[in-house]
Amino acid sequence: MALGLPSTRLGGEPTVHESLRELLAEGGRSYSFEFFPPKDDAGEAQLWTALRRLERLHPTFVDVTYGAGGSTRDRTVRITERIAQETTLTPVAHLTCVGASVAELRQVIGQYADAGVRNVVAIRGDPPGGPSAPWQPHPDGLDHAVQLVELLRSMGDFCVGVGAFPDKHPESPDLDHDARVLVAKAEAGADFAITQLFLDPAAYEGLVRRLRAAGSDLPVVPGIMPITSLAQVHRFGQLSGVDVPGWVVDELESVGDDPARVRAKGIELATRLCGDLLDAGAPGLHFYTLNRSTATLEIYEGLGLAVPA
Ligand code: FAD
Repeated sequence: MALGLPSTRLGGEPTVHESLRELLAEGGRSYSFEFFPPKDDAGEAQLWTALRRLERLHPTFVDVTYGAGGSTRDRTVRITERIAQETTLTPVAHLTCVGASVAELRQVIGQYADAGVRNVVAIRGDPPGGPSAPWQPHPDGLDHAVQLVELLRSMGDFCVGVGAFPDKHPESPDLDHDARVLVAKAEAGADFAITQLFLDPAAYEGLVRRLRAAGSDLPVVPGIMPITSLAQVHRFGQLSGVDVPGWVVDELESVGDDPARVRAKGIELATRLCGDLLDAGAPGLHFYTLNRSTATLEIYEGLGLAVPA
């Protein structure tokens, strides 16, 4: 299926690739924006405003998360289908193992395929009790993301993304275990990985180094959260097991309490992180937009990525 995906636009015309798999395999860069399914009409209006503003940047793809505990299944599928049908964007659907039998997972994968969605991020999912609650697989379901990768690959020509964790997955014994899990996902047929948000470029570089040492060339796209306040950094740190380096806190605190100055410093830090990652050879950037567009647009501009007039 021809997707016509644009590659890097840094300093030139976009190169168009047929698929995300082809783009990344050829060393192209992918720029993407992640959204979550909103709870109500006001949230949905905000999502579409952000999507339309970011559409002008011609991202490689946009993706829609599958709500914690599998709670947003219908909304995720509906919004992903609408993006496929009503916009020029390439949607990538998330799918998790939470609370679903294999038969139900097959049904959702079939729905995505019917809507023309061929790119899927295969994730185990967080338990309904939240990221720190114990994981419980569905009795007729899957235990790990690697099995979902296998299921997707067995059902058609899907391009499959998976999750990766520069600061270590909270349930994982150590960073090497995480690297082995990522190798298993690649061997099961994953085409690329997107990382959990992180703040220290060394954490990303360490993950890629361990993965390469384990013999895998899986492209790993760094996940970027635009920083807009100190409270936000701490909240995400606690929720996702992300290390918040002392120098990040120091730099944010150095500008005082004025929210506008803290926000500007946060955008500067995120822009610097993105620049360092691209310099280190990252195959693109994946922005956790939180259904907003302004901070992501500012980082894009700061990086010199083309922003249409
Ligand atoms: P897995 O790969 O199954 O790993 C989970 C744990 O099990 C890890 O500690 C891993 O080391 C261990 N493990 C894996 N395989 C094995 C094995 N064979 N043997 C022993 N141990 C193993 N959550 C949502 O609810 N909805 C979303 O849409 C969503 N999107 C996300 C997108 C990205 C890019 C990322 C990074 C995370 C996302 N999450 C989402 C959060 C995710 O659900 C949690 O981080 C979850 O705890 C782990 O998911 P996973 O796919 O990495 O699981």
